[in-house]
Amino acid sequence: MPVDKENLAEISLARAERNTTARPTVQAIEEILFQPFDVLDHGFVRVIDYMGDDSSVVQAARVSYGRGTKKLNEDRGLIRYLMAHSHTTPFEMAELKIHVKLPIFVARQWVRHRTASLNEYSARYSVLDREFYIPEVEQISSQSTNNRQGRGELLKRQKSEYVQELLRDDANRNYNNYLQMINSDDAGQPLREGEDGLARELARMNLTLNTYTQWYWKANLHNIFNFLRLRADPHAQYEIRVYADIILDIVKRWMPLSHEAFIDYKLNSATISSQSIAVIKRLIKGEQVTQESSGLTLREWTELQRRFEFGAPSA
Ligand SMILES: Cc1cc2nc3c(=O)[nH]c(=O)nc-3n(C[C@H](O)[C@H](O)[C@H](O)COP(=O)(O)OP(=O)(O)OC[C@H]3O[C@@H](n4cnc5c(N)ncnc54)[C@H](O)[C@@H]3O)c2cc1C
Repeated sequence: MPVDKENLAEISLARAERNTTARPTVQAIEEILFQPFDVLDHGFVRVIDYMGDDSSVVQAARVSYGRGTKKLNEDRGLIRYLMAHSHTTPFEMAELKIHVKLPIFVARQWVRHRTASLNEYSARYSVLDREFYIPEVEQISSQSTNNRQGRGELLKRQKSEYVQELLRDDANRNYNNYLQMINSDDAGQPLREGEDGLARELARMNLTLNTYTQWYWKANLHNIFNFLRLRADPHAQYEIRVYADIILDIVKRWMPLSHEAFIDYKLNSATISSQSIAVIKRLIKGEQVTQESSGLTLREWTELQRRFEFGAPSA
């Protein structure tokens, strides 16, 4: 279960509280504040706090004394200009703080995004729960043959169920030995009265990478966009992409104009080389261009064909 009853009650109390402020607030975020959005089998993302709105970007860009907003279409135009020309510092004026529950192997990828602040649940101090990520059969695939970092065809159902069984058994066995070492049962009571348990900071090394951890993560919008550009991309691993997709949706509610500009100019845009631009120009002029005459490698040529949907992909 992503969030237990006790924690849900705490969330309800926090959501019922009301404060007054002169700072800008965003109704669409107020509506979801503290509320967990389920991810994978036991994970979640929930917004803890935020600072700013679309007008904060505009305000900083204009270094204005007031809210900095003009007409909506002027603000939209300015935000799109800033995004298109990578004038990024105005986007650093807005901040988001989230609470995330995620498998350790996803955390390993996430933590590579260094330009954020995070505080993780301490497994030196506390005991981790018996909660492991077990992928759905729809996610259990063979190793890709053309992308060393990706997945290929789905495994047959029977084989996927066997993989699930192995993952579940190994995670439980390791977790049982973890409890043995710290001398605790699942309810936190000693397994053997009067006996010292191993330090938690040592025992945790026995846990499998699909065990869930939690953290608070805070970043400004510029760095959140960097994270989303890489992790909400279809090439990102599914297990981190599902978290990125939820954060993308949160950003859409929070900063709709900045979100729209990000989608148009970053997430759905393409970086193309000068050689590729030359190919596009030749195609527009009506020239027949082949991979051999393009000056591109087969991979570059295939990517360009896919991106601009011309010609049959080369074998
Ligand atoms: C598809 C994919 C595959 C990946 N595979 C691997 C892998 O096999 N192995 C692996 O180790 N990582 C891998 N990564 C992680 C990747 O190399 C980056 O570490 C990660 O995406 C974070 O990007 P970042 O450094 O831009 O972000 P951040 O750490 O948030 O940094 C943001 C920006 O700040 C600047 N910056 C931050 N720190 C420094 C610094 N020390 N020096 C100079 N500039 C800095 C850079 O401009 C950087 O772009 C992969 C990422 C993706 C998306």
